[in-house]
Amino acid sequence: MSADEVDPEELGESVERPMLRLFTEYGGDHLHWFVIGLVTSMGTRFLSLVPPIVLGVAVDSVFHGSRAYSLLFVPESWIPTTQMGQFWFSAEIMGVAMVLAAVFNFARASSLNLFSHRVKHEVRTSTYQWMQRLDMTFFDDHKTGELMSILNNDANRLELFLDNMMGSAIQLLVLIIGIGAILFDINAQLALVTLSIIPVAALFTWWFMKRIEAFYADVRSSVGDLNTRLENNLAGIEVIKTAGTESFEDERVRKSSYEYFKRDWQALRMNFVYRPGMQLLTSIAFAATFVVGGLWFLADPPLGISGSAPTVGDLVTFLILTQRMVEPLTQMSEVVDRYEDAKASTKRIFGLLSITPAITSRPDAVELDSIRGRVEYDHVNFAYEDGEEVLSDVTFTAEPGETVGLVGPTGAGKSTICKLLPRLYDVTGGEIRVDGHDVRDITVECLREHIGYVGQDTFLFDGTVEENIAYGAFDATRDEIEAAAKAAEAHEFVTNLPDGYDTRVGERGVKLSGGQRQRVSIARTILADPELLVLDEATSAVDTETEMLIQRSLDRLTEDRTTFIIAHRLSTVKGADVILSVEDGEIVERGTHEQLLDGDGLYADLWRVQAGEIDALSEEFVMEASRRASASQLGHESNQ
Ligand code: ADP
Repeated sequence: MSADEVDPEELGESVERPMLRLFTEYGGDHLHWFVIGLVTSMGTRFLSLVPPIVLGVAVDSVFHGSRAYSLLFVPESWIPTTQMGQFWFSAEIMGVAMVLAAVFNFARASSLNLFSHRVKHEVRTSTYQWMQRLDMTFFDDHKTGELMSILNNDANRLELFLDNMMGSAIQLLVLIIGIGAILFDINAQLALVTLSIIPVAALFTWWFMKRIEAFYADVRSSVGDLNTRLENNLAGIEVIKTAGTESFEDERVRKSSYEYFKRDWQALRMNFVYRPGMQLLTSIAFAATFVVGGLWFLADPPLGISGSAPTVGDLVTFLILTQRMVEPLTQMSEVVDRYEDAKASTKRIFGLLSITPAITSRPDAVELDSIRGRVEYDHVNFAYEDGEEVLSDVTFTAEPGETVGLVGPTGAGKSTICKLLPRLYDVTGGEIRVDGHDVRDITVECLREHIGYVGQDTFLFDGTVEENIAYGAFDATRDEIEAAAKAAEAHEFVTNLPDGYDTRVGERGVKLSGGQRQRVSIARTILADPELLVLDEATSAVDTETEMLIQRSLDRLTEDRTTFIIAHRLSTVKGADVILSVEDGEIVERGTHEQLLDGDGLYADLWRVQAGEIDALSEEFVMEASRRASASQLGHESNQ
């Protein structure tokens, strides 16, 4: 399944036996913890049944004296013969069972939690590893909030189910089987009366599961929408503040949150029916046991029951054990809830893991030790996944060390041309060659290692200036980092920062100005020292003075490596070996600055615009510009 046509949610729907796969694929290495958890869970429950049984026997044998003292699994030789001896023996057994139950409970909680946390950790890291390697098209199509929700919420939900709820489900099973067996052993007919609610409870639970599943799908999608909205708003807080749209956003968040509340409430309401329903059922069992058992003890057995009547001790044991079922049975809804939740999360996680990147290294791909830097675009066509052709028949060659300038209106396809080089996307037609090798025949890691990219919006990671410069060249020394910063004209401002190279830049580098971020990013590229360089409007976000500084550092950077420069300010590309004018995805003219000015085409017109010679523009250029402006306006509106 390739990344450009898929959605983890949809793919997840076709994942078969998600919970089993979760256990086999991620639980395998930690199964011993799970088994210990399972055994101790059962042990805890069995031990919790000991006191009521002993109590029942003690009532009849020690206090009432109506039958001989005997206990299941306890050899007769262990049982004292005196009344007092039997009394203390009962107390000791109950005491030991309670202490052991506490120890088992500790072991159960630790091992199950260890198991679930380990699984969560592995699921999260492997999902992240996988996601990070998916194609850019995947990230174009999926919202950050949605992906964060898979990495965070979904992984957490698994843990919630795997530790407590898994234990609860097992305990419930053990409890019902254990209690059933004990009750049948004491009095089979009365046990039938008490346990007649179990099939009803099972049916009721099944009905609940079916209904709640649909509600949870709604809850999940509304929580995803809410997350995305919140994430977007926080990221765009500057726009909100400067546009004064706080109340508009208040309302949008309120709507999303209310939608979530509504869906959540629907699901909760189901729970409100289920829990008391289960409680009622167990109360009915309790009352029926009391009435039937009591009548049987006091008078004739009701309901056509025959046989010997239960003793007082039997009744005590019956009633306590029935009561013991109330809590776990009402907890069933939570178990089911969490199970459904965990299943949906697991499906989404496996859905994501079933997406495979299309841009990978071919099995026979080569590793190039060094690159000379000859780049050829050979009749390249390209369309983003929506199908419309963005580039057509792009052909040019850059010799090693040459600088290629790319100019043209916004949306012409300049960035797209550059993104194809490191294979952020693959060409749909034609070929791009580096030193004569099709880029698809070079391993992706090797290709990208040799290409440096400085974009318009420089992204810095939260960390120090030094860490950001050395990002990707992790073993660089401080001297090398400083040398790179000097070459990027960044050293001076960095040393003036409060902590110099150790100053933290804040999330996305907010504590630095646009020009400073840009220079840090150039320093990073200088340090990485790639053979091929792409500068995508690297100086567009800065003032003229800073541009001059950056330009100096760029000149040094581009000196002896093949460079692609995309620039709106034509002065940036004036000195390029060749300038390509791109319009509507095609190269419409090419040449040096002087040649293009002489040619009097698109470039010459753009140059005149920037020189302020508006009157000298050709009529055709003005018409084209207004056509493009209205087309992009239309595009803008249709996007809204
Ligand atoms: P330029 O760099 O010349 O401004 P781009 O290469 O960014 O132009 O864009 C060329 C065309 O491709 C535009 O029409 C733009 O809308 C479209 N485009 C750019 N990026 C994407 C993307 N990730 N998905 C779909 N279409 C895109």
